[in-house]
Amino acid sequence: MRVPFVDLRAQYATIKADVDAAMSSVLRDSAFIGGPYVLAFERAFAEYCGVSHVVGTSNGTDALRLALAALGVGPGDEVITVPNTFIATSEAVSMLGAGVRFVDVHEKTLTMDAIQLEAAITHRTRAIIPVHLYGHPTDMDPILAIARSHGLKVVADAAQAHGAIYRGRHIATLGDVACFSFYPSKNLGAYGDAGAIATNDSELAGRIASLRDHGRSEKYLHETEGYSCRMDGLQAAVLSAKLRYLRGWTEQRRRHAARYTALLTELPGVRTPTEAPDCVAVYHLYVLQLNARDAVRGDLKARGIETGVHYPVPLHRQPAYERLKLPEGSFPVAEAQSRSVVSLPLFAELTDEQLEFVAVAVREAVSR
Ligand SMILES: *Cc1c(COP(=O)(O)O)cnc(C)c1O
Repeated sequence: MRVPFVDLRAQYATIKADVDAAMSSVLRDSAFIGGPYVLAFERAFAEYCGVSHVVGTSNGTDALRLALAALGVGPGDEVITVPNTFIATSEAVSMLGAGVRFVDVHEKTLTMDAIQLEAAITHRTRAIIPVHLYGHPTDMDPILAIARSHGLKVVADAAQAHGAIYRGRHIATLGDVACFSFYPSKNLGAYGDAGAIATNDSELAGRIASLRDHGRSEKYLHETEGYSCRMDGLQAAVLSAKLRYLRGWTEQRRRHAARYTALLTELPGVRTPTEAPDCVAVYHLYVLQLNARDAVRGDLKARGIETGVHYPVPLHRQPAYERLKLPEGSFPVAEAQSRSVVSLPLFAELTDEQLEFVAVAVREAVSR
């Protein structure tokens, strides 16, 4: 049996009529950049997130960059984030001329550790980017308290966490702003690139909306220089059509994750993901930690099962960050994690048959 890592074709087959109709409307109206379809999606996604404002952007990386820019982050400032994330998180900081400072993560949830955060704050620190990795919320209350006491901004990287709940609160409502990606394989995926910021701060939302469109307030009136980071109408229409399914898809992801955990728990050399009791994770990825990760991946591949590694090299060990001079051993939890993590196939349309096939294959590979 072949089990793909994600299956966007299977998803399209279930929503074809909705998506095709949404795209046709945009073509008919020729509302390609900004316009009514973007506005409608922003309203719908704001309601889904429980925030007052959503601003659609060109992608998730630009959402982070615009949020930081609107909060005044620039040269001379430092922004603290984690090393076990996709490089977009730290690129957004560097693009503004600010410095990146990494801190290690919690062993259990693999998200930002507030104790490490507090120790890393300097007089240059301006903002913090916690990453809700794999769809599991960061423990935000201690981070928000530290941010408040040091006057720091909190920009959450929620690119993997659409709909995740922390202590009864949607993650989009925590901190100054939350940034989403709608890259096609994300929990809510466009049919191209798209992203958004969510916030309850109307002034901040206004600044971001202006910055994403060349700093303009009217057609040819520019309050500042900005960026060209708009969402396009086709993506907005597809996202609005797909948003109606997101709750159901998230339930499916959670059901699949629970099933994987039931089948793989208490195997020697295998750690199943932890879900904090006060959180609802949305399982963008289902990530095991394995002693013999690479051998198991090889076995699964031979049986037609695609897996992923998120991420094999922590950012501080990437050639791109050689300038930071952070040797092996700088962040032991993130480093150990990068050697042991493997992501199993997980998407709403995954069948019970496929899931059991994967779980049996993992059991057998681990026991070899
Ligand atoms: C996908 C992702 C991004 C970037 O989003 P794009 O839309 O691809 O620019 C940022 N951070 C994390 C953690 C991501 O997974």
